Amino acid sequence: MNQLIRCRNCDQVFMKSPFDRYPEYASGSNHAPENFQSIKRDDFQDFLSHHHGHQLEQLRIIEDSYVSERTYSEPVKTSFFKATNGREKFVIKKFRERIDEPLKYQLIPGDYSIKCVGVEIQPEEISRQLDREVKPPLAQDKMDAFLGVMGAIAEDIDVNDLERIPAETHHPLVVYYKIDDGHVMHLLRNCRNIFNGQEYLAMEEFIHRHKDDGVLLLKATCKIELTEIARPGKKMIPAFIHLEKEKVVGQK
Ligand SMILES: [Zn+2]
Repeated sequence: MNQLIRCRNCDQVFMKSPFDRYPEYASGSNHAPENFQSIKRDDFQDFLSHHHGHQLEQLRIIEDSYVSERTYSEPVKTSFFKATNGREKFVIKKFRERIDEPLKYQLIPGDYSIKCVGVEIQPEEISRQLDREVKPPLAQDKMDAFLGVMGAIAEDIDVNDLERIPAETHHPLVVYYKIDDGHVMHLLRNCRNIFNGQEYLAMEEFIHRHKDDGVLLLKATCKIELTEIARPGKKMIPAFIHLEKEKVVGQK
């Protein structure tokens, strides 16, 4: 099991995993197999000696708090998760800059939330689907008028009122929402002004076919918003003064 250890003096964290003790193989300048040597790695021992005499504590990782800016399978990315020592909240930033680097963990006192920054329609997908399904094909000006009404709906709508559609997205910060019934009515009303007869009926069917899980879903882009708690002064106190003070209190 992984354990997250924080040094209270330095505000640094270490993710202790069962893999720390595995030997790492390094090659010399010459790549012949006999030049491979096994190096004993014990990163946790390095962390302990670096923070010798400091106050260490174990943090509890908050379940399901993991968020990432890129796809989960992407090796080079920045992710965040939440942890606590029971009194304070922390955000742990997990990242690597290059694929051959080990993962780094950075502690940020504070919290984060996922904020929606934009809602848009899927114009290319809608046009492609209309071309495929509506025969005879729509005139370009009618297609544009339909996309215009959809775009106006996306601008007017508040995603907080909408039903989120669980979908396999290629990006973890992209979320799809279903247009509410009121806006579907609005869309149909506007379609009556754009289309007539058979064409209107075809559009009505198209809307009902695609509003729940198809191309008419609205695409919302979110971002991870960090709220860092500034702790002025903390960094100004050298670790040994901090410890000496505690020793004096302890001796009383
Ligand atoms: Zn330390």
